[in-house]
Amino acid sequence: MDLTEVLGGDEAVIDGVLSEFLPLCEIPHPSRREEAIARFLAGRLTERGWTVELDEAFNLRADLPATPGREGAPLVAIQGHTDMVCAVRRGSGYRPERDPVTAVRDGDVLRTDGKSSLGADCNMGNAAALWLLTRPVPHGPLRLLLTAAEEVGLEGVSRMDASWLDGVQFLLNTDGFRLGDLVVSSAGGRRETYSRELHTVLRRYKTAFRLSFQGFLGGHSGYDINLGRANALKLMALVLGELRETVDYELADLTGGHGHNSIPMDCSATIVVDPPFVPALARAVSHVSNDMRLFYGRKDPDGRLDLAEVAPPERVWTTQCRDSTLDLLSLLFTGVYAMHDTIPDRVSASSNLGMVCTEGDRIEVRTFLRCTIGFSEEILAFQHARAARSTGFTLTSTGYPGWPGDETNPLARRLARIYRRVNGGRARITAVHAGLETSLLAAKNPGMVMVNLGPDIFNPHSTEEQVRLSSLPPLVRLMAGALEELSAPKSAGSRGNKRKKV
Ligand SMILES: [Zn+2]
Repeated sequence: MDLTEVLGGDEAVIDGVLSEFLPLCEIPHPSRREEAIARFLAGRLTERGWTVELDEAFNLRADLPATPGREGAPLVAIQGHTDMVCAVRRGSGYRPERDPVTAVRDGDVLRTDGKSSLGADCNMGNAAALWLLTRPVPHGPLRLLLTAAEEVGLEGVSRMDASWLDGVQFLLNTDGFRLGDLVVSSAGGRRETYSRELHTVLRRYKTAFRLSFQGFLGGHSGYDINLGRANALKLMALVLGELRETVDYELADLTGGHGHNSIPMDCSATIVVDPPFVPALARAVSHVSNDMRLFYGRKDPDGRLDLAEVAPPERVWTTQCRDSTLDLLSLLFTGVYAMHDTIPDRVSASSNLGMVCTEGDRIEVRTFLRCTIGFSEEILAFQHARAARSTGFTLTSTGYPGWPGDETNPLARRLARIYRRVNGGRARITAVHAGLETSLLAAKNPGMVMVNLGPDIFNPHSTEEQVRLSSLPPLVRLMAGALEELSAPKSAGSRGNKRKKV
């Protein structure tokens, strides 16, 4: 097969993929609002002669018969999600449920007008597949699976009937962010919420201070967990925990972080002290500030601890609430727990202490565990459950499993050879420390061999989301090469020599 003949040159591929992607931008499709986009795609695929089915969650399944002569080839599925995280620029007036995404082509980049995210995660991967399947590329029996509500805890795929995967031998998941990365493993996610009643009493002391850790980098609790950045909650737990030994103080407020899923970049607390202890407090703050500069100076240089006198609050936490909360924050594991055995430089297990806040008369603490292997999650979750019990917090959790895989994945190895043949460069077999739908797909059909791939997407889930357009032709060529090769009739001798041939 001459790929240039079948697909055209790079510009033709880019135009073709955009002709599939841009109409999707016209239809608002935030998570759990996929009905319109699913019906649009179902109509489009039905017109093209596919057999289409939609389920109640607005997952879409479409079957395309094989190119004549390739009917006996293994069933290949291409799978991606149709929903998007709608990041909105503050003050832009953009309404994700009603407004289209305005895509702007700017040289080699596709971005938005800055009001919203683009939704290239993951509809650009879907568009690449949709356009490719309008080209005369030889293929075996094909199934397209477009799932809903991925961005809200893999909800759509978890509701998808397992029979939709019956007979599927190979699956290409198009939710990747980096051209040339062939992802064979992803992390499970366990979202933990700790809660206990908040009891307060009238304050006894007179002088109140606000301690604020701020200016840290924070980041994604998966992708950025190994970068050595500070966790503002852990620092606060250290300072306030140690302070208990030398200063008699009351805690009036403790707030920090933004959710389970992001590394906390700030944390503040209001404490009330007996005036004779003020010099000791100032010394403790300056001591921690110095230590912090030494330890985080390179990796998280702008973080600081500020101390400011404030008006004293009326009520403060009971000593028991103060101590149990600080103890819990100290006991919960945060950071990298384990690295991948076989995939270099990839985190396999981590925990992020993400948030502490008060909601009405309750104190709430949130963490997120990411573990590729179930056993490492068991170890961390057990430690956390013990911490909750010993501090009087109740713990609830939700989650999805990991997708353990390694570099022996035969589909990835084959794709790496095809990549070299059709694009000339080297692909990398790797893992991601974040959740992918493949983990739940594997649970529904353990026999499938799966790989995650995609174009170059930068800053997903933000108004700065961008696609590098020149990454689309190599992606389409890789998928075209895969469809052809996975369906190639087995003739005598050709299998045995495949190493030489590809
Ligand atoms: Zn995605």
